Amino acid sequence: MSDDYIYKRVLLKLSGEALAGSMGYGIDPSVVNSLAQQIHPIVNAGVQLAVVIGGGNIFRGMAGSAEGMDRAQADYIGMLATVMNALALQDAFERHGIFSRVQSAINMQEVSEPFIRRRAIRHLEKGRVVILAAGTGNPYFTTDTTAALRACELDCDCLLKATKVDGIYESDPVKNPSARRFDRITYREVLTQNLHVMDATATSLCMDNNMPLVVFNLMNDGNIARVLKGEAVGTTVYQ
Ligand code: UDP
Repeated sequence: MSDDYIYKRVLLKLSGEALAGSMGYGIDPSVVNSLAQQIHPIVNAGVQLAVVIGGGNIFRGMAGSAEGMDRAQADYIGMLATVMNALALQDAFERHGIFSRVQSAINMQEVSEPFIRRRAIRHLEKGRVVILAAGTGNPYFTTDTTAALRACELDCDCLLKATKVDGIYESDPVKNPSARRFDRITYREVLTQNLHVMDATATSLCMDNNMPLVVFNLMNDGNIARVLKGEAVGTTVYQ
């Protein structure tokens, strides 16, 4: 592996919103293409990459339930939305020469493999990007929690959470432009200061299992590589 990268195996969490780009809904082809371009050299250099993809660009269970839908039913729709995103990502990855596999937590054998931990690890070892779809397969969870869970069980060195802002701020930087950004912060501080980084389940799972998290801005081209090289990008959360 190239010495430039300090992490050998990482889990990248992409929100569905990130895929929507400026369209605000659905999948923006320019975003998935640019992601594939960023990821290609990293994977070529030997970094093992698993991706958990969200579905908020298509459907969120909470939104459905707010409209009167049964919460669990709505959550299953949300999980299916993540499968569409996963297939779109795989398409872009393979067009850019990145070998990948989609593994789904809800069986969908025509379009994906089932999630099998040992098999996922084998793909990673062979240099294939593993795109993890359908969240945990359970309603009442989020894809952030999925990312925390998979990062732990796939024995990743770090969880990378790609967002639209430059890291974790003391308050919302959109509403408060003078809000201070943290370079480093502990999980306990995140929880006690009620900072909205990930939901509490995801945060405590990472904290309990000593999984470092880097929150960074995906919109800056090349940021994934910068994070993997240990450059001062975004906010690192540690135990
Ligand atoms: N979801 C779920 N269980 C999971 C993961 C996701 O029920 O383990 C559902 C939930 O309804 C959620 C939707 O899938 O709203 C899409 O995921 P999420 O909102 O986490 O996507 P993101 O915000 O990252 O785009």
